[in-house]
Amino acid sequence: FDDDGEGVNVRFSDGREERFDVVVGADGVYSQTREAILPDAEKPQFTGQAVWRYNFPRPADLDALHVYNGPIGSGLVPMSEELMYMYVTTPEPDNPWYPTEGIAAVMRSKLARAAPQIRALAEQITSDEGVVYRPLEGMMLYGSWSKGRIALLGDAVHATTPHLGQGAGMAIEDALVLAEELTRADTPEAAFEAYRDRRFERCRYIVEKSLEICHGQIGKGPPVDNHKATAEMFAVVSQPI
Ligand SMILES: Cc1cc2nc3c(=O)[nH]c(=O)nc-3n(C[C@H](O)[C@H](O)[C@H](O)COP(=O)(O)OP(=O)(O)OC[C@H]3O[C@@H](n4cnc5c(N)ncnc54)[C@H](O)[C@@H]3O)c2cc1C
Repeated sequence: FDDDGEGVNVRFSDGREERFDVVVGADGVYSQTREAILPDAEKPQFTGQAVWRYNFPRPADLDALHVYNGPIGSGLVPMSEELMYMYVTTPEPDNPWYPTEGIAAVMRSKLARAAPQIRALAEQITSDEGVVYRPLEGMMLYGSWSKGRIALLGDAVHATTPHLGQGAGMAIEDALVLAEELTRADTPEAAFEAYRDRRFERCRYIVEKSLEICHGQIGKGPPVDNHKATAEMFAVVSQPI
């Protein structure tokens, strides 16, 4: 894209060209838009922890998030009437690459000392393709979130680890505030500044607190009371934005 101060000319991967008043980069933690407009900005950092996920049929009585804390954490998350997923968080200081072949057995082995009900479920982790493994990375842009007529939102500016479960919520709030400020301000630049001012503190809090919980779990910092941190977080995010 090319921002000439009056608008942005955008060329798409299919060769199409169009001109827009503003461009919003909502392209996630590895945002190419961020790389293009703010090449010196902070980069995602690996935390030393990873998350494993696997889907299961959901028992009818599992109607809330179940969390099991420990050096290896796990949890059961209802997703629909029929489906839930299990997550498992593990310290992975060397950030290893796990090939797909055999990854179900590796996930099962991580649960060898889990609670009995989790171990019983773990026996059903048999499909390598069903395992979703992801090293956890975090990132916060402490400087500008925009340049000229191009702005960023969501994980592109504040990728949080999932310990407070607020990443998608923050991205959606960003979009609402950005839209609101664009309708109010005289220029896109003023709207982008007002948007960042309104969003910065809450997003910073979510990213930093989540990272604190993560570090506590893997011994990189003092342990954090997860239950208390979650209750505090709900008090913060229930405030008007
Ligand atoms: C294990 C885990 C659990 C989580 N749990 C929760 C939770 O419980 N609650 C919660 O609120 N959040 C949770 N999150 C965080 C949440 O998933 C993210 O914060 C959220 O998806 C960020 O939204 P986004 O739109 O900014 O980016 P994304 O969802 O990453 O979307 C970016 C999109 O841009 C596309 N894209 C990127 N580059 C290009 C390109 N060059 N061209 C075209 N398209 C491109 C991508 O394909 C993608 O579709 C969790 C995250 C993880 C890893």
